[in-house]
Amino acid sequence: MNHLDHGTEVNPIKSNTKSIITDHNKDDHNAQEVKAIVRGPIPAAAVPDHMWQAVIANDRAYDGQFFYGVTSTRIFCRPSCKSRPPKKEHVFIFQHAEQALQAEFRPCKRCKPTGVRLPEQEWIDIVKTYIDDHYASPVTLNTLADISHSSPYHLQRTFKRLMGISPNAYVQEVRIQHAKERLRGTKESIADIGAKVGMDNVSYFVTLFKQKTGMTPSAYRENKASNTMNDVCTPD
Ligand SMILES: [Zn+2]
Repeated sequence: MNHLDHGTEVNPIKSNTKSIITDHNKDDHNAQEVKAIVRGPIPAAAVPDHMWQAVIANDRAYDGQFFYGVTSTRIFCRPSCKSRPPKKEHVFIFQHAEQALQAEFRPCKRCKPTGVRLPEQEWIDIVKTYIDDHYASPVTLNTLADISHSSPYHLQRTFKRLMGISPNAYVQEVRIQHAKERLRGTKESIADIGAKVGMDNVSYFVTLFKQKTGMTPSAYRENKASNTMNDVCTPD
């Protein structure tokens, strides 16, 4: 399951800003109301094309000129943020970061629209922590890109550069480590252990385990049981 994806479709904007949007949709030609919109958030239907293009292209030239919030995540970003392209109908444009905060959007941890950018290592640590906490659930590159507000491609490259392995390989490492602990410390079946570390498919679990450790889960368990006094030589 994908806790953070599209869990709740929330109301894009609250209270006072909502009325502005409604007014706008009702009557585009009223100069007074158009003025109000320029000061407030711009709803998806009214996102000017050049701004939308800037969002899709991560155009740095627009940084500082506007910010965009995504209603499905309630996060807001600079135009240059390398987040996955949002759905256009989820996008709100803000002229100032304060407007986004007032509308209860949170600043993106990656592009830090309210301050300095997050150092790469800290950003990757967020992803690593997420994997450490969610290894028992399906973890896809897209999920990781969403929670870290990045594109899958950029995340993959940066993660590998800083961690030495791909996000997927790291997920596998974490799962195998937890499986080893359970094989040593519990009497749970191989299938149960596989499922508890995020691998419901037992034959996949056995194959991966063998590939990473050189032995099957059963052999690993037997080996550990017979070598409790002397497990220095077995792979850990
Ligand atoms: Zn961002």
